[in-house]
Amino acid sequence: MPDDVTSGFLPGQDFAQLLAALTGQGYRCVGPTVRDGALVYDTLQGVRDLPAGVHIQQSPGSYRVEFSQGKRLFGWANGPQALKPLLFAPREVLWQAQRTAGGELHFSQEIPEPLPTAVIGVRACDLAALELQDRHFLETDVPDAGYGARRRQLFLVAVNCTRPAETCFCASTGDGPAVSRGYDLVLDELDEGFIIRSGSTSGDGILDLLTLQPVSPQQLGAATDATVRAAAMQGRQLPGRNLRDLLFGNLDHPHWEVVAARCLSCGNCTSVCPTCFCYRELDQPALGGESSRHYREWDSCFTQGHSYIHGFTVRPDTRLRYRQWLTHKLGGWHDQYGRSGCVGCGRCIAWCPVGIDITEEVGAIAASPA
Ligand code: SF4
Ligand code: SF4
Repeated sequence: MPDDVTSGFLPGQDFAQLLAALTGQGYRCVGPTVRDGALVYDTLQGVRDLPAGVHIQQSPGSYRVEFSQGKRLFGWANGPQALKPLLFAPREVLWQAQRTAGGELHFSQEIPEPLPTAVIGVRACDLAALELQDRHFLETDVPDAGYGARRRQLFLVAVNCTRPAETCFCASTGDGPAVSRGYDLVLDELDEGFIIRSGSTSGDGILDLLTLQPVSPQQLGAATDATVRAAAMQGRQLPGRNLRDLLFGNLDHPHWEVVAARCLSCGNCTSVCPTCFCYRELDQPALGGESSRHYREWDSCFTQGHSYIHGFTVRPDTRLRYRQWLTHKLGGWHDQYGRSGCVGCGRCIAWCPVGIDITEEVGAIAASPA
């Protein structure tokens, strides 16, 4: 491959080359694998761990893995995880306190030392969510040390989506199905192999290690057609990209009560959402009082404790909690982060046990605004 080439074609049978190149550069390879009836990110030992021929059927309140004779490794939309748990740990120690023999307290911050990690198979919606999480955790006066340490070690191998789920609507939020930025490498999967392009100097370094063929115009055309088709296949959409005024102008809309009658306040939607970042902090002192650990763990705006302030709960019922989730994500984020907090991944629809569909709920309010 000539020095200045930043793309090429990797035959399907040579995909192991990519994993070997990443491993050779010191990365732990993490990618999609099927476990417990879902597609989850896990450490890859080899290409055999990737979900060849796997498709996923998703609909409101339903997620089903299907196996086919196909050879494609990335013929699915997404699993319940995004990149979020790899960066914003579900539970971690932030700092510890230790009491010395003399009775003094010593405090120490816990900063993780993660291995360099290459994530294979990242979708456009999840890269958009990562950009938002970066903004929240890093682009602030006090960047988050743990998130930052993990983020610096991340190498992202994205894959353009060709088979969206019934629940996907990233085309309507402008975040997919084609990847446009934020990756080190991006793949287009064709029947015979992969078009592979670099998006960073780290990506260039990995491409240099691969034996690639030139990309033909037919292959390029097939890849473009596939993502255009994937966008056209999406049946859901939000009623607009900026719903701030609609939602804040309809805080007393009767539809909030309709959703609350079904919603279980379980918080599944916030757990699977790749942009949700609420957490709580708690201390775990040793029984003898000689030390204490200060933890951070994921929380949800659907829990009672999340809005508990000095003796009372600000949002005591489900109507107020669901309204908070939606008005913040689709409204307040425009003020905080300059865009909506929804990237159209559809996870909250599939993983809601009662099948509440964010696009339908907002659509109902948009159809009969106050
Ligand atoms: S609100 Fe739902 S569809 Fe939007 S990003 Fe979160 S989980 Fe995905
Ligand atoms: S909308 Fe669904 S997933 Fe979210 S809290 Fe309510 S029942 Fe649970």
